[in-house]
Amino acid sequence: MLRAEAVDLRHVPVVDNHCHGILRSQSFDDLVSWRGAFTESVEPGMMRDHVSSTTFYRRLIRALSSFLGCESHEVAVLAARKEKDTAGLAGDLLRAANIETLLIDTGHPPPDEVLPLDEMGGVGGCRTEPMLRLETLMEDLLGEHDSLEEVREALAAALEDVRAQGYVALKSIAAYRTGLDVRTWQEDEAEASLAEFRRDAAEGGARLAHKPLLDTLLHAALAEAARQEVPVQFHTGYGDSDTNLLLGNPLHLRAVLERPDYRGMPVVLLHECYPYTREGGYLAAVYENVYLDLSYGIPLLGYGEMLSFTREALGVAPISKLLYSSDGIGVPELHWMSAIDGRHVLALALEELVAHDELSIPEAEIAGESVLRRNAVRLYGLAE
Ligand SMILES: [Zn+2]
Repeated sequence: MLRAEAVDLRHVPVVDNHCHGILRSQSFDDLVSWRGAFTESVEPGMMRDHVSSTTFYRRLIRALSSFLGCESHEVAVLAARKEKDTAGLAGDLLRAANIETLLIDTGHPPPDEVLPLDEMGGVGGCRTEPMLRLETLMEDLLGEHDSLEEVREALAAALEDVRAQGYVALKSIAAYRTGLDVRTWQEDEAEASLAEFRRDAAEGGARLAHKPLLDTLLHAALAEAARQEVPVQFHTGYGDSDTNLLLGNPLHLRAVLERPDYRGMPVVLLHECYPYTREGGYLAAVYENVYLDLSYGIPLLGYGEMLSFTREALGVAPISKLLYSSDGIGVPELHWMSAIDGRHVLALALEELVAHDELSIPEAEIAGESVLRRNAVRLYGLAE
């Protein structure tokens, strides 16, 4: 029987260590396109028939209706939301979320579709810092340079001083493209992979999903990150149907994590590796340079599941390795609701630790603040 102890984190501002931009256009023509913001599926029948019955969506509509002062129904919410312009809506939600800093993957959505970082920070009353998405940079460089050697040199040059360019971290979506089992390939294998990429690009697809080539370029980037001790975020686990979830298991990163020359590079496993949270927590418990991101926006989960992954993370990983995020993207509702849910769920999970004499209440409150902001301030060097 748990004692009811109050660990209150509602006043703690969050450093959202992984999220994306908010679309300039917040007008959704119909319910189907609006629901599309709250699913990783791209199948139209999902938006039409199923998304509105997820526990995540039900919670969102309830929370939004009380925030907007309208009826608790998606039609009413969409109508009330339409009365605000993008800056007004984003500003109201981000300010209500009490955000200290947003670390933003500027590679997706494309910069011309989203509010510029300074505008997002301005309306939200928070600091914004960009993170560089590696695969986007690689695709750009593959379009500008011919040989593998030239592309690799251009990549190393582009990443020569990551912080001087204003980036606080690098991010890889290799899990989406070719899997987390990043390997070391022979030069001729990488060359053949480049030739295949060129053939596909000539047919109109410049998407880098060619494993020997992507792995080879990723090693060039990781060498730079390790040299500069810049954190690298890896997408892991839950994602859209593009991802092979089997290859998004963070245990596949072992070869990268075991490299002695990469040990200076903090590795952040995104999305609590859901559903592989225990695996991610284990890695954070074993490797000094591995951190586990706890994302309360995406994956789009019900309360019980958020509480479960928080318990799993707290149960195996050091608290100093856990980092809050939303993975909010496109609509400000995700950044907002995640902050509210994250504080609440984390407080509930910490109260259990108090009940079991693992922490005192003051220690639990310090732990909560560490996860919500302090660990990220330290890891990404945000104190200056
Ligand atoms: Zn993301």
